[in-house]
Amino acid sequence: MKKRKILSGMRPTGQLHIGHLVGALENWLKLQDEYQSYHLIADYHVLTTNLESESIYKDSIEMLIDWLAVGLDPDKVLFFRQSQIKEHTELFLIFSMLITSNRLERNPTLKDQVRDLNISQIIYGHLGYPVLQAADILLYKGEVVPVGEDQVPHVEITRELARKFNNQYGTVFPEPDALLTVFPRLLGTDGVSKMSKSLNNAILLSDKPEIVEQRLKKAVTDPQKLRKNDPGRPDVCVIFSYHKKFNPGEVDEIRTGCESGALGCVDCKRNCASKINSYLAPVLARRVYFEENLPKVLDILSHGETEGRKIASETMKEVRSNMLIG
Ligand code: SF4
Repeated sequence: MKKRKILSGMRPTGQLHIGHLVGALENWLKLQDEYQSYHLIADYHVLTTNLESESIYKDSIEMLIDWLAVGLDPDKVLFFRQSQIKEHTELFLIFSMLITSNRLERNPTLKDQVRDLNISQIIYGHLGYPVLQAADILLYKGEVVPVGEDQVPHVEITRELARKFNNQYGTVFPEPDALLTVFPRLLGTDGVSKMSKSLNNAILLSDKPEIVEQRLKKAVTDPQKLRKNDPGRPDVCVIFSYHKKFNPGEVDEIRTGCESGALGCVDCKRNCASKINSYLAPVLARRVYFEENLPKVLDILSHGETEGRKIASETMKEVRSNMLIG
């Protein structure tokens, strides 16, 4: 049976952390057998919020290495950069004629970003980035888009654009379905913010065991548990949330020990670091392999971009033909 096509991507922000693993990547791993998967390195998207471009290439390669290190299989998945397949920007241009600025201004994800990043003036490219995202998906005729809840409005814009184009010029595009992924969001080691490399509260997939230990040593726990014997509240402690993910077999015991005061934070953190390190050991080993075999990584990317270009070019031929412009 023909597999359905799934399209998913990330902005290259350099090395990924365990929040990405628990969020998107474990899901992508499950999906790679069931679907024909296309994974996009959305390098042009970086410019929507940051015009500095000198680290984009390096960050793209680092991110690809992390994707491969977690087990995404280049025999099953195509990887490519948005900037290297010119049809992304061509389809973006056409789609941008099919949507109003009012519709884009109503996008709730944009409103959240403007608030979170404290943006005073929205640039045109930022306003229109769901349109570029729609081009990214529909160029490959993606039928399924795995997303967290905050991205569902973007899939809705993609569906609207597919519908609008098909009605205006004849059917070329599927209306993709959002595959809603519910996953626990991991807080950073500060216990309050989303995990993020730039906030220095992240555990990177590339962190060596001793670095993971150091990061957890500094992590914020229950502020009411000052000494070992003080009773603690695991539900307000970020270390406990990591145990739930990486050490599920001991969660009950840790809860009892923490609440009674029998378990101290130093031992609890050491145990947590050891479980995270065991979990990450195969990822780290594969990462080292790919770092040492960079030409192989570049070959994988080149193959993905060659294949991606073929698909994108076919789609654009259909688009131009339906529009009677070539
Ligand atoms: S004992 Fe563990 S779960 Fe309890 S507050 Fe300390 S680190 Fe957190």
